[in-house]
Amino acid sequence: MEISGRKALVLGAGKSGIASARFLAERGATVALHDKKAVESWPQAALQLKAEHKVGLIGGDLPSWLLDQIDLVVISPGVPKTTLPARYVDRKDGEVIGEVELAYRFLKGKIVGITGSNGKTTTTALIGEILKAAGLPTQVGGNIGTPLLDLVESSRDDGWTVVELSSFQLETIVDFRCDVALCLNVTPNHLDRYDSFLDYAAAKHRIFLNQHSDDTAILNADNTVTNEWSNGLKANVIKFSVERELESGVFLRGRDLVSTIGEAGSILTTRDEIFLRGLHNVENVLAAFAATLTCGVDAETIRRAIADFKGVEHRIEFVEEIGGVRFYNDSKATSVDATAKALSALGEDTGKTILILGGRGKNAPYAPLIPLIHQCVRRVIVLGEDADNIEAQLAGEVEIERVASLEDAVSAGFTAAEKGDSVLLAPACASFDMFKSFEERGQKFKEAVRSLDAERKAAK
Ligand code: ADP
Repeated sequence: MEISGRKALVLGAGKSGIASARFLAERGATVALHDKKAVESWPQAALQLKAEHKVGLIGGDLPSWLLDQIDLVVISPGVPKTTLPARYVDRKDGEVIGEVELAYRFLKGKIVGITGSNGKTTTTALIGEILKAAGLPTQVGGNIGTPLLDLVESSRDDGWTVVELSSFQLETIVDFRCDVALCLNVTPNHLDRYDSFLDYAAAKHRIFLNQHSDDTAILNADNTVTNEWSNGLKANVIKFSVERELESGVFLRGRDLVSTIGEAGSILTTRDEIFLRGLHNVENVLAAFAATLTCGVDAETIRRAIADFKGVEHRIEFVEEIGGVRFYNDSKATSVDATAKALSALGEDTGKTILILGGRGKNAPYAPLIPLIHQCVRRVIVLGEDADNIEAQLAGEVEIERVASLEDAVSAGFTAAEKGDSVLLAPACASFDMFKSFEERGQKFKEAVRSLDAERKAAK
C-alpha cells in the first residue's frame, strides 16, 4: 500500500486514531484528524500531532469542502462506519478502512485473532503468555490496549501477533486475515449500535472473512451462533465445549480438559491446575489451548503457561487474603450477567461470598442474581447511584447493607465475612457515578483492601 502523497482523514481522536494519524504522517501522507468533540478536550497525544507531524486537527463539524480532497479515510472503532465522511469518500471510490486493516497491510509474521462478546481480553492475554512461554517472538495488541499499528515496527517474519478484535474493528477490515481466528461466543451486546442481533453477529463473523484452507478457525460448540458457523468456513475448524464431549475438538470431561485433535483423548490439563476461576474461564482456557496447539506449541508448555497465568486485572482478580477472608476485584463486571459469572465462579468454594453491588445502573433487572445469592451469598453491600433500586429488587432475599463509599464497602464486607468467605466487588453496574472508569474503581478497591490489611497489621 502506498501512503506517501495520499490525503488522509482519520476519524476519531482516541488511541487508535492517534496511532493512525501518526503512522500515516510519518510515511508521507497529508493527514487531518477529526473528532466531533472540541479540540480543547482531546488527549495531549492527539494535540501533539500538529506540532510534531503537521497533522491538521479538526474538532466539531467537518467542513464540507474537505471531503472532496480526501482519498483515504481511516475510521476508529468508536466511529460508526455509516458516518457521513466515510460515506462520501466511499462514493468517490476513495478507500475507507479501519486502523486494524491499515496495520495488517504492513504487519510481518503470523496473526492469532480473538473476538467474541465476552472473554476476549482474558483469552488474548493468555494466548500471548503461552506463545511467549514457548519462546516464540510474540506481541499482543488491538482492542486489549496497544493499537495494532504500534506493533508494526516491531513485528517479525518469524513472530506472532496476538490481536484482540472488537466487532467494531472487524467492520472495517478488507484484506485482514488471521492464521488462527477465534470467536469465543456471540451474545446480545452493543445493540445500540447495530440494527439487529444478526447485524452484530455478522460483524463478529468477519474475523473469518479472508481465511484460507490452511488457516484455523476456533469456535465455541456451546454457543448457538458460533456452533452454526462451522459449515460455511474455508478454514480448518476446531471446536471447544464445556458442555459435551466432541468427536473432534477440545472439551471438558469431569475436571479434565481433553483434546481429540492430534493424539486422541489426551488430557491437556485439569481444572485444579487452572488458577483462573469459573467455568467461563475454562472456556477461555480450552480456546487458548486449541489456538496455541495450532500455533505449534507442545501441550506440556501450554499446560504450564496456563497454570502460571494469574488472569487479567479487574476480572475476578484475587487481591489479598486478610484473616482468612479472600478479596476479589471484578470491577469489570459491569453487567448483571458478568456478576452472575463471578458469583458462580466463587460459589464453587466452601465459604460464602459478601457481594458488593452498585454504581450507575444499566436498567437491567437484578432479579436473575437471586438464585445465586440464595446459594452462596452471605450479605450484599450496596452503594452508588443505583443503590435504592438494587435494595428494592433484592429486598427480603438476602441481608443488605448500604454504604457510602468503596472504602466503607471493604470494611463492611470484612466485618460481615467469616473465615473462609470471600468479599467480591462485582458491581453489575457502570462506574461513572463515582469513578472515571471501571479500572479506577478496581484500583480504589484494591487500595482499600491493602490499607485494611495494613491497619490490621499495625494494630497487632
Ligand atoms: P472482554 O474483553 O470480551 O470484555 P474479558 O476477558 O475482559 O472479556 O472478561 C470480561 C467479563 O466477561 C469477565 O469478568 C467475565 O464476567 C465475562 N467472561 C469472561 N470470559 C467469558 C466467557 N468465555 N464467556 C462468558 N463470559 C465471560
